[in-house]
Amino acid sequence: MSNKIFKSVWSAALAVFAVSLALILGLCYSYFSAVQVNQLKIETQLAARGAAICGMDFFTGSGDEQALEAENYRVTWIASDGSVLYDSAADESSMENHLAREEVQTALAEGYGESSRYSATLSEKQLYAAQLLPDGTVLRLSIRQAAVWTLLLGFLPLICVVILFALALSFLLAYRLSKKIVEPINALDLDHPLRYVDEPDYREIAPLLRRLEEQQTQLKSDQEKLERTSLIRQEFTANASHELKTPLHAISGYAELLENGMVRDTDVRPFAGKIRAESQRMTKLVEDIIDLTALDNGGGMQREDTDLYRIAENAIDSLESTAEAAQVTLHLQGESAPLRGIPSVLYSIIYNLCDNGIRYNHAGGHVTISVEPSPGSVTLTVQDDGIGIPQPHQERIFERFYQVDKSRSKAAGGTGLGLSIVKRGALLHHAAIALESAPDKGSAFTVTFPAA
Ligand code: ADP
Repeated sequence: MSNKIFKSVWSAALAVFAVSLALILGLCYSYFSAVQVNQLKIETQLAARGAAICGMDFFTGSGDEQALEAENYRVTWIASDGSVLYDSAADESSMENHLAREEVQTALAEGYGESSRYSATLSEKQLYAAQLLPDGTVLRLSIRQAAVWTLLLGFLPLICVVILFALALSFLLAYRLSKKIVEPINALDLDHPLRYVDEPDYREIAPLLRRLEEQQTQLKSDQEKLERTSLIRQEFTANASHELKTPLHAISGYAELLENGMVRDTDVRPFAGKIRAESQRMTKLVEDIIDLTALDNGGGMQREDTDLYRIAENAIDSLESTAEAAQVTLHLQGESAPLRGIPSVLYSIIYNLCDNGIRYNHAGGHVTISVEPSPGSVTLTVQDDGIGIPQPHQERIFERFYQVDKSRSKAAGGTGLGLSIVKRGALLHHAAIALESAPDKGSAFTVTFPAA
């Protein structure tokens, strides 16, 4: 980056220098040209006055006076008919008529005229100034003016020195500037970017520092979330292994007793029944773990247009025999409720809530499921008149493997994961869960789904 800044600064400095140099040279040239033209005019008018007073003597001299010496300029005296009376640089008799010359024409018409012509090589320009004398003759002075490039050529060594100096100076400045820009950036402590906001060196990059701080905060919170998720997963794995080990131990214990012939023939059937019950518990556990893991990774599940009432009907159908065995009656009320969601997850929510309503109930109890669509939301309520949940436990029953009464839940075939599945599923649908429950009165779970 430092290299890039250096190159940009250096090239910018050089570009500014080149443009300035060209402009200054151009301005100097036009200024000095103007000065030269003005000078020539004054000199021409002076010489014209001399010629008007002294006549030809002014040029050729007389007596002791010497003839005019014209070194850097040329003097021409032209008669009113255009013939050349005197010329300081050539033999006047061999010179052509000058009447048509632009400056002579203007002088004859207006008293004074000027013109300029490039020489054949274009390397220099000839400036002419002509003044009309009272007797009708014209005095003309001319000088050579170098063209821009000729002038430049003359200046070349000096210009080269200046360019070299500018190159070196801009190199040095660009180097120091790029270092000065990059140094504070490199010195930044990225963990605390806001610390620099008020320092003079960092004022220009204050918005960047603020964005860095925002990103740092975001990163930290993401990191914390990740750590928390990883901790929850670890805990979950440990708990799951522990929960799986219990039925496995029981199964292997019963099997060992059977194997060693320590069970009376009449007890073999109840033992086999226990083994079956434990393995069913294990199966239920594994199924719940699979469900919950799928929900944890739930991003990939397909959402569809569904009807919650229809899903409730299906869940109730599957629970009918369980309810019958527990002597609990299931009721479904409400109406068709269109909802965009994941059908299998919605099914799990209703199934688990109803299943709990049946299992934590008395013989002769009731479970009422109602599905009510309303503008903006769909409400699912699963209400039972079972054993209820004491207030202190109500907060925690949605935690994984949390059970109010371990032995009762175990006897009822619980895994401690049912409500975690409900909570996770509701979360995937941005639904809120509310619980109202009192011991021996029953419980009502309400899940409110935002409609589409
Ligand atoms: P489990 O598989 O043990 O039923 P859940 O996560 O479904 O696990 O429920 C957690 C605990 O909350 C249960 O063990 C039970 O103690 C209590 N519980 C859940 N639903 C009800 C209910 N309808 N009535 C009374 N207690 C309930």
